[in-house]
Parts: sequence; C-alpha cells; structure tokens
Amino acid sequence: MDVAPDIDTVAGESVVVIGGGFGGLSTACYLADAGADVTLLEKNEQLGGRASRLEADGFRFDMGPSWYLMPDVFERFFGHFGRTPDEFYELERLDPHYRVFWKDGDKVDVLPDREENKRLFEEYEPGAGEAFEAYLEESERTYNIGMEHFVYEDRPRLRDYVDTDVMRYSWGLSLLGKMQGHVEDYFDHPKLQQLMQYTLVFLGGSPYNTPALYNLMSHVDYNMGVYYPEGGIGAVVDGIVALGDDLGVEYVTDAEVTGIEGRRGGFAVDTADGERYLSDLVVSDADYAHTEQALLPPRKRQYAEEYWESRTYAPSAFLLYLGVEGDVPNLEHHTLVLPTAWDEHFEQIFDDPSWPDDPAYYLCVPSETDDTVAPEGHSNLFALVPIAAGLEDTPELRESYRDLVLDDIAENTGTELRDRIVFEETFCVDDFSDRYNSYRGSALGLAHTLRQTSLLRPSHESDAVDGLYFTGSTTTPGIGVPMCLISGQITAETVSKTT
Ligand SMILES: Cc1cc2nc3c(=O)[nH]c(=O)nc-3n(C[C@H](O)[C@H](O)[C@H](O)COP(=O)(O)OP(=O)(O)OC[C@H]3O[C@@H](n4cnc5c(N)ncnc54)[C@H](O)[C@@H]3O)c2cc1C
Repeated sequence: MDVAPDIDTVAGESVVVIGGGFGGLSTACYLADAGADVTLLEKNEQLGGRASRLEADGFRFDMGPSWYLMPDVFERFFGHFGRTPDEFYELERLDPHYRVFWKDGDKVDVLPDREENKRLFEEYEPGAGEAFEAYLEESERTYNIGMEHFVYEDRPRLRDYVDTDVMRYSWGLSLLGKMQGHVEDYFDHPKLQQLMQYTLVFLGGSPYNTPALYNLMSHVDYNMGVYYPEGGIGAVVDGIVALGDDLGVEYVTDAEVTGIEGRRGGFAVDTADGERYLSDLVVSDADYAHTEQALLPPRKRQYAEEYWESRTYAPSAFLLYLGVEGDVPNLEHHTLVLPTAWDEHFEQIFDDPSWPDDPAYYLCVPSETDDTVAPEGHSNLFALVPIAAGLEDTPELRESYRDLVLDDIAENTGTELRDRIVFEETFCVDDFSDRYNSYRGSALGLAHTLRQTSLLRPSHESDAVDGLYFTGSTTTPGIGVPMCLISGQITAETVSKTT
C-alpha cells in the first residue's frame, strides 16, 4: 500500500496550530519536519485533547480513548520521521481482546485466535463459522481498498471521484447501504450481529445510520488485534509530544485562543491571557464549529449556524472514573455490557434523546494489564455509557445515573463495587463542552453517517480565509486516534500544496 505523505518543504513558514489533540499534534510534527516554524497553543493544562489524563490518589486514568487499534497507522506515522512506536512506548496485544456480557446472563470472550472466534460464532448459529470467515475477508478487502484509496487520500471535491480507478473501487465496494442490512446478509443471530456492530460506537454511529463500508472495523478488531500501550494512551500522547519536541515544535499549554484575526499576509492569534501570536498560517484542531463560530468574525466563516445545527452528532458520554479497593476478577481489560435488544439504546441516542433506561456500556480496567495505573491492592476502572449529545446534564442526573450504572454492573457482571470505591469522578456532556469546546458536548464530533463521510465532511482548507486550515476528527478521515493522526498528514499535505 503506497500511502507515503506527499509534503514539500514549507521552510520559512510560521504556523500556529490551535489545539493539542492527536490531530493537532500530528499536523505539528509533519509541518515542523517539512521546515515550518510551529507553535502549538492548547487551551488546557495538558496536551492530548480528548486523550487527557486524570491523576489522583495514586490512580492514573486515560480520560478518553483506551483502545489502541490499527497499529499499522502508528507505525506509518512514526516511520515517516524515521522512528518506531517502540522507541516511545511498549505495546501488548490483549488476550482476550475483550469480554461481552449480555444482560440475559450470557457471556463471551473475543480472542486473538481467529479459529477460536470462528468456533464461537458456529456455536451460536450453524454455518456462522464460515460466514465469519467470509465476513472478515470482505472486511479485510474493504480495509485495504479504503485505506489506500479513500482514508489516506483526501478527495475534497466530487470531481476527485470521477477518475476511472476510483469509480471502479467505489463500485467494487458497493457498501453504501446500512450496516444493519450488511450484517443481516451474513448472520441471523442478533448476538452475532451485535458482535460485528459494536465497533460502530467508536465511529459515533448506529447500525441504522452508518454505511456498511465501515465493516472494515471488523478487520481492525478481529484480524489486526487490540493492543495496550504500557502507561495507557497517555503514553502515546507523550511519545508524539516528544517526537514534536525533537522536530522543534513549541508547545504552549493553558493558552486558550480567543480570536483569529487576518492581517496582511498572515494572522494574529489572541489568547485568553492577553498574548498575541503572529504567524503566516493557522491550523485549527479545536472543534471545527467552535473555531468558525467563536474565533472568526461572521464574514470569515464557511458555514452558518444552521449548518452545525442540522448535522448528526456522535454521542456524548457519561463517564465514571473509579478507584476501587481489591480486584475485579469478572472484568477483563475491555468489557462490554449489552442489552440483548439494543435498538432502544440507539433510539435514545439518535432519535429520541434521553438518558438510556437500559444502557449498553463499556468498562475499562487497565489495572488488569498495567500495575502502574493504580496503587497496590487497587483496581483502576472506568465506565463509559454513550448518551445523546446535548442532553441535559445536572449533578442530580449524574448522581442517579451513577447509581443506575453501579447497580447494572453488579447485576450483569457480578462485580459489586459500591462498598470499595476510594476515588470517583464523573465526566459528561457539560464537561465535553467546557473542557474541549465540543459542540453540543459530543464526545466524538460529527458522526460517520453517509452524508457526513469523505468529501461531505468539512474541508481541511478554509475557502473563506486564505492560510487557514483544519485538522482532527471533524475533517477526513474522521473519528478515532489513528484517523486523527492521518488527518494531520492530510492537513500538512494540503498546506504544502497551497502555500
Ligand atoms: C470517551 C472517549 C473514548 C474514546 N475512545 C477511543 C478509543 O478507544 N480509541 C480511539 O482510537 N479513539 C477513541 N476516541 C476518539 C478519539 O479520542 C478522538 O477521535 C480524538 O482523540 C480526537 O482528536 P482531535 O485532535 O480531533 O480533537 P481533540 O482531542 O478534541 O483535540 C482538540 C484540542 O483543541 C483544544 N481546544 C479547543 N478549543 C481551543 C481554543 N479555543 N484554544 C486552544 N485550544 C483549544 C482542546 O482543549 C483539545 O485539546 C474516544 C473519545 C472519547 C471522548
């Protein structure tokens, strides 16, 4: 697969990057490597964006991403700079990849061994073992075509698709229908359908609004594997920050940008502490809607407020970080707890926003793998319940939902936590808005619906302001840590082509 970056020198250009999430960190590295003078301004006290760390009472929590998927993307990223991921952090493949509890008392472990997983599928439905093989082959093909021709290669205009090769590949994919229909072609059993679909939550979608081409996520999950970087995802942030340091990126934290002003041949970028940074170019990794609506004057915006209002947003999340005395033997590093019928949960996210009565949720216990994240004799875990973006979020609602989640964990996983919690903290809709300036407090941003995929996502380059660029999960290729690293590459390529 040839997806090497195509970045010419941008020597002599000064660039301000707004926001230190994976998109901003990645763009900063590519541009600094190509010769630009890069200053990155981050609103919060630490870098990493959604991948911030919460440290308290001897516990260290990854506040956001916790699944290290697509190791090939990280290798390619570091490889561009002549480096390897293992110079910065150590990876361990998880076994099992994850455990699933269904709320009817059933439980399965998805393992690194493909034959074992095939047997598992066959146990639920005669013939499903073969269907599993066929599904994964299709998924691998989609992944390879998708990565080479669509993910790494930005196609911002319709005419970029009118190229015989690309048309052929798109036709070959013929996967623009919905995921639900696609998995039904392979599996009848609802639990097998769920096992193939839960990864959609990573993309902020549901089986009913996400195009079937995202079945490529099953290749990512079952074939490529689920990894843990020693020290957590925070260690990956540290690695990329260290790489940027070596390349000459200057990082400024506690630097909230309050305005971007165009000046003759460049920009003045103001921060809340009264500083003013002058640059030739600006790249924003901050929430796209926030950048346009809050940092630019109206005539410099590409999109009106109605545009942002009319988009489909990925869920927000109710997160409960817990430091717990003792072990949690029924839980694996990654554990999913799913109602046997999960349509209602998706309806309560996308159609009729309300706090889910019978939540589908995820539990992360990194202390199962890493003894540096909790004091001795303790477990570090968090619960993540996807909920609709923009939901009302009050201390009372959080308190009662915390109780509901702890009850649900006890009932469905046999893990009683309530009497041994020594540290706890919640993070929810209002925190996503306040900490990250996230539109409607979405955890992930614009969902990957068909109308918000590829060229239909907001562009890497502003067509209203020369020299202003965007990166991160709202742009292509989209949501997730690996995708944001790639968005950094695409943004840097766009900068180099247009300056
Ligand atoms: C709870 C949760 C779980 C997730 N799980 C996974 C997972 O397991 N695996 C995975 O791959 N992905 C996961 N994701 C998705 C992934 O974390 C995101 O897609 C990715 O980190 C987004 O990076 P970004 O650079 O686009 O934006 P962000 O991380 O949001 O970075 C944007 C930065 O801009 C800063 N900023 C905003 N406004 C300003 C301003 N005015 N001035 C200066 N700075 C500003 C923000 O503080 C932030 O640091 C998860 C996300 C969440 C929230």
